[in-house]
Amino acid sequence: MDDNQLTRPFVAPDKKSALACEDVSLEGLARRYGTPLYVYSAGHMAARLELFESAFSVVPHLVCYAVKANSTLAILELFVRRGAGFDVVSGGEMERVLAVDRWAAARTVFSGIGKTAAEMDLALRAGILQFNVESEGELELLAERAAKVKKRARIALRVNPDVFAETHPYISTGMREHKFGIDIRRARAVYRKAGKWLEASGVSVHIGSQIQSAEPFGAAAERVAKLVAELRRDGHAIRYVDAGGGLGIEYHAEKAFDAEAQVARYAAALIPVVRKLGGVTLLLEPGRFLVAQAGAILTRVLYVKKNGTRNFVIVDAAMNDLIRPALYQAHHEIVPVGPRRGKRTMVADVVGPVCETGDFFARDRGLPPVKPGELLAILDAGAYGMSLASNYNSRPRAAEVLVEGKRARVIRPREKLEDLLVLERDALRK
Ligand SMILES: *Cc1c(COP(=O)(O)O)cnc(C)c1O
Repeated sequence: MDDNQLTRPFVAPDKKSALACEDVSLEGLARRYGTPLYVYSAGHMAARLELFESAFSVVPHLVCYAVKANSTLAILELFVRRGAGFDVVSGGEMERVLAVDRWAAARTVFSGIGKTAAEMDLALRAGILQFNVESEGELELLAERAAKVKKRARIALRVNPDVFAETHPYISTGMREHKFGIDIRRARAVYRKAGKWLEASGVSVHIGSQIQSAEPFGAAAERVAKLVAELRRDGHAIRYVDAGGGLGIEYHAEKAFDAEAQVARYAAALIPVVRKLGGVTLLLEPGRFLVAQAGAILTRVLYVKKNGTRNFVIVDAAMNDLIRPALYQAHHEIVPVGPRRGKRTMVADVVGPVCETGDFFARDRGLPPVKPGELLAILDAGAYGMSLASNYNSRPRAAEVLVEGKRARVIRPREKLEDLLVLERDALRK
């Protein structure tokens, strides 16, 4: 892939051509499978994983793809075939990993602040690599479950390093007042409580999401390394350092973004810390960075209208397909799929049909003039798009298509309205 395609795989071969994903026409996909439609480039996801693998090749490491970013089975399969492990945050995500490859459990870590006994049992029986434990209560319950299931569990405490990471407040997680993790100053005392069914084998940290600078990752790793040294002195054989996920991408097309350089800076912040510690395998949990830019949502313009002085482009995708703009005021580039026609001459809000003012994809966005029926692509929608999708307004969830070179295949068909109604029909009085 050339540099351009390493940023986003949705490019036009030349100025006169329409956008394609790898070698597949987007207009063709929209005609065939309808809209809204999620389209992902397999080559792009593989290339992003490869960036991670090569940047960290000088230290023992395992990339545990964060399933919540995009949990569709074919995506998990793509990563498992390339040797990745997984980071799951629920029993449901654990089941997804097992459905793809039950041996992948050995490469799976389980994070999350609210694990239930049933979820613990599932992961214990599957034989996962490590539980990232987020409270003393959880440690006690896990010890109980491990004794019951008769499976010894490897654990890492997810410590809260009290590092500030500049990102949206909803996706920052590494400060003392956040609900995640255990205060790093209390960690040693908690590790002492591990007991015979739990093996304190790691330390984990995750400071937030969509973090652009390498600096907070380095700062968190330093604090973790200091703790690892203390834990080793306390007699714990710490073999894993889990640096979490959170490496950001650039959603604005006008800002320069070099994915390879981004990973290189990230690796440069982590590798020296791991090397100095010695004897540890570095676990990495990237989600967004691996899949966000590989995906787009194709959507048709339904109407163009003007209310007062504002222009509205009403499209057939909505906040139930991609909630990031409504939830985090997130920016997504929106581009016409057809051949380029010069200047941006229209300023409009791009909105969906859902009955919420928050149902928008862009506000005051410069666009080429667009007409009803035209196909648009909402870019960088491969992460936290489908995985956060809902059926709000009784909208069936869109189909997902995975492109590999000249080939495109549906990896999740469009939901039918009956899929939404089936669970409720029995409650109707006949
Ligand atoms: C969400 C999450 C990730 C992935 O975050 P990204 O920003 O998508 O890389 C990794 N680890 C944990 C524990 C998470 O909660």
